[in-house]
Amino acid sequence: MIDLRSDTVTKPTPGMRRAMADAEVGDDVFGEDPTARALEERVAAMLDKEAALFVPSGTMANQVALLVHTRPGDEVIVSDGAHCAWYESGAGAAWSGVQFATAAPDVIFSVDALRDAMKPRAYWCPRTSLLALENTHNRGGGRVLPQAQVVDLAVYARAEGLAVHLDGARLFNASVASGIPVDVLAAPFDTVSVCLSKGLGAPVGSLLAGDRARITAALRFRKMLGGGMRQVGVLAAAGMYALDHHVARLADDHAHARRLADGVREIPGWRVLDPETNIVMIDVPGRADDVAQRAAAEGLKLSVFGASRLRAVTHLDVGARDIDAAVAILRALAKA
Ligand SMILES: *Cc1c(COP(=O)(O)O)cnc(C)c1O
Repeated sequence: MIDLRSDTVTKPTPGMRRAMADAEVGDDVFGEDPTARALEERVAAMLDKEAALFVPSGTMANQVALLVHTRPGDEVIVSDGAHCAWYESGAGAAWSGVQFATAAPDVIFSVDALRDAMKPRAYWCPRTSLLALENTHNRGGGRVLPQAQVVDLAVYARAEGLAVHLDGARLFNASVASGIPVDVLAAPFDTVSVCLSKGLGAPVGSLLAGDRARITAALRFRKMLGGGMRQVGVLAAAGMYALDHHVARLADDHAHARRLADGVREIPGWRVLDPETNIVMIDVPGRADDVAQRAAAEGLKLSVFGASRLRAVTHLDVGARDIDAAVAILRALAKA
């Protein structure tokens, strides 16, 4: 089975499992897990932020960020298709009491569009208190946000009194693809989340980074959400290992995505968005769910992302030969 549904399907490698088994641990709710501490300090330094907090998932990182930056009744401006609005079970509404608005039907937008989307400062309007961007953008097909535009938006938002959060679940993909260091990509933001369990191949874990005051607030919200963990060094060790061994190789995933796109583009009637990173969006002439079902029967798993849209994600556990086999399966399906 070739599983391209997501880059979350990777299994920890033998080396990663050894690192987990050997991890020094302590009770992290008491702040005594040395491996978790080391991971938090390392990620804070990598992103050039004062502090970072290890959390079980990217969803919790985003939700903690919403709790830190907003009050109930506030509005959060997000890009179209944002993870925090689509894939977090409505948690932003449930726990932070916020509503989401988009400024444009795109993964990024102009300062003018942001200005128009922000509600007037009248008591009868929601308080627009946060701008949350996503880099790379998942529903946008793994697109890397143009950094100059990100900086313009962040500068404007800050000047207007908004906080600025980055959902950087795949920030390392953005960095490897663009050649821009992660700390530069993170610089315009008050808080930044990164996932270890996507392309980096760890089984669990994300971090939220920011200034010390916000991360201290985040620590309390993590506990409220049930994310205070005990001997969590076994998981943090997997993250340390991933940062040591699995960052530079993301370039392989990006090459595999291009290889997949090039193969699928040849199929008459099929359209492919040019992949910038490890996500390939494929528009098929028929029903996407039908194609996905038939592909699975042939040994290829894909995600359905719309009536006629499929998503394929390359990762640590697939090689060039798997990609060629995937293309062959899709070609045969299209012919049948
Ligand atoms: C996967 C993902 C997350 C977090 O997902 P979890 O499954 O909760 O770890 C957040 N944002 C984006 C853009 C993602 O792709």
